[in-house]
Amino acid sequence: MIQQPIQAASPAAATPGQRAVAAAVAQLDAAAEYLQLDGDLRAILRSPQRELIVRFPVKMDDGSVRVFTGYRVQHNTARGPAKGGLRFHPQTDLDDVRALAMWMTWKCALMNVPFGGAKGGVTCDPRDLSARELEGVTRRFATELSPIVGPDSDIPAPDVGTNAQVMAWFMDTLSMHAGYSIPGVVTGKPLSIGGSAGRADATGQGVLYTIEDAARRIGLDLANATVAVQGFGNVGEAAARLLHETGARIVAVTDIGGGVERPEGLDGAVLARYLQEHGTIAGAPGTRPIDNERLFGLDVDVLVLAALEGQITDANAGNVRARILAEAANGPTDPSADPILASRGVTVIPDILCNAGGVIVSYFEWTQNRAAFSWSREEVNDRLRRQILTAADQVWQRAASERIPPRLAAHSLAVERVADATRLRGLYP
Ligand code: GLU
Repeated sequence: MIQQPIQAASPAAATPGQRAVAAAVAQLDAAAEYLQLDGDLRAILRSPQRELIVRFPVKMDDGSVRVFTGYRVQHNTARGPAKGGLRFHPQTDLDDVRALAMWMTWKCALMNVPFGGAKGGVTCDPRDLSARELEGVTRRFATELSPIVGPDSDIPAPDVGTNAQVMAWFMDTLSMHAGYSIPGVVTGKPLSIGGSAGRADATGQGVLYTIEDAARRIGLDLANATVAVQGFGNVGEAAARLLHETGARIVAVTDIGGGVERPEGLDGAVLARYLQEHGTIAGAPGTRPIDNERLFGLDVDVLVLAALEGQITDANAGNVRARILAEAANGPTDPSADPILASRGVTVIPDILCNAGGVIVSYFEWTQNRAAFSWSREEVNDRLRRQILTAADQVWQRAASERIPPRLAAHSLAVERVADATRLRGLYP
């Protein structure tokens, strides 16, 4: 069972992964309390079902050998095969992956996709690796995970630091072992080898749909809204671009190398080009520099968090002035910040709702692979929109009728579904 780390009382002393676990467990406990779950169920839901740690050598370009550490945690499979991304990041460790796996379980349940939750990753900075080294890490990591992944057991996908190319290598490696192609073993693949139309933008697209929906509910005109975005990776870039297309003004964006501010509005396409050439958006022409703490406190209508966990805490939540806080990342808000944001009247779109577009289209990709059929981008986006907005409706309705925060509404809906599946399946043997 995941215990609250001892350091949780003093967040400064804990690692980011320990803080993420403390956050995930606190959210589960709040939902379990609200649902009056019995102690046995609480113990089952707290516990990651399966954890694999692998260490593997990779030949580097200079001829040396480096040993990498990787993880895969399957938190719960009561509702279906384990599902969740692979993260290549220096901060990736067992705790980090445990928290992220638990959030995947709730996300899949809330979206009503027939999956359990998992997450995996390798402790590394992919920016320090050549393309060949990255391929070597991916292929050997895939080999190490091969006993537990598969289209009916555990299906990885991209996450921070990985992309469609990494998924292609992962799929190819497992297919080489089998002697035939197994497209359904990962999602987020390139289109030409069984990927789905719309998957690359799917998380950003879902972020847009849930922001549009929340804006409607609070009477905010998105076409004239101002937006700040933390993170300019796969999710932040797509969210900024799609929000810009609705007419919203993107006034500030940060990424790993710094940040840019332009009150008259930033052009996402220009930033994306600058990023390609310079590896960061920092220093893009016509912009002023900005850091994350200033970005969090900007007087904007919508604040999109599309980076890592634990960004908004009780130390900085009091600075947030946005009307909508969109959790495009997993776990960007520490539980200590929730009451402060609520008292400031900030409408928080919880992560397991806001960023679920990715796993929804992963589900579509997996079903298309099983049927050896492909859908158009219009069909994918139309189904994505319906599926994520159905969940959004359930969250906002429960929040309103029960007078509870949207995060508790989302988590209680999700935990209820997983608890129900667990009860129905019963205990084996
Ligand atoms: N990594 C994404 C997430 O955190 C997508 C997971 C998936 O598609 O399996 O939701």
